[in-house]
Amino acid sequence: MSLRKQHTRRAVFLDRDGTLIEDRGNLRLPTEVIFFESTFEALQRLQERFLLFIVTNQMGVADGALTIEEVNQVNEHLVKQLANRGIQIVDVYCCPHKRSDDCECIKPKPYFLHNAAAQYSIDLKNSYAIGDHPHDVVFAENVGAIGIYVLTGHGAKHQNELNGDELVLPSIAEAADWILDQ
Ligand SMILES: [Zn+2]
Repeated sequence: MSLRKQHTRRAVFLDRDGTLIEDRGNLRLPTEVIFFESTFEALQRLQERFLLFIVTNQMGVADGALTIEEVNQVNEHLVKQLANRGIQIVDVYCCPHKRSDDCECIKPKPYFLHNAAAQYSIDLKNSYAIGDHPHDVVFAENVGAIGIYVLTGHGAKHQNELNGDELVLPSIAEAADWILDQ
C-alpha cells in the first residue's frame, strides 16, 4: 500500500515591495525598508490559519542595479523584523531575472507556488496571493488559488491594467480581513 502525500496546508503568498513594505525602488540596505503600519497585525492574524511566504521579483539584479547579496540581506532583515513581532515567514522566494530573460521563476509564472506546494504540502487551491501588481493576481489564478490586488505601492498606478474581475482592496489589512472571512 502506498501513501500519497497529502497537500493539506493552506498558505498566503505575499508580494514584498508595495504590499508588505513601501515600494522605494531597488532596496540595497536593511535601513531602507519601511513597513506599512498595518502589515504586522495583518500577518499576525493570517498566520493563525495560514503558512506565510514572500514571493518577490527583483529584476534590479538582472539590470545590474543591485546584487543578489543586497537583496538577500534586505530579505533577511525583513524576515527578522517580522519574527521580532512573532510572525514566521516559512520561506522567501526571489526571482532575480528580468522579463526578457524568459526565466521559469518570474511572476506570474507559478514556479514558486509549485515549489512551495511540493516542499511544504500546500493545498494551492485553498491558498491566496496578495500583491500590488496585476501579475500577483494572475500568479494565484494560474494554480487555482485566489489573488488579491492591493492599492498600496504601485497598486493605484497599475489599476487601469486590471481586467475588472480582480478582487481589489485598499491594503494588506483589508486583504487579511477578507481572507479570514472566507
Ligand atoms: Zn526568474
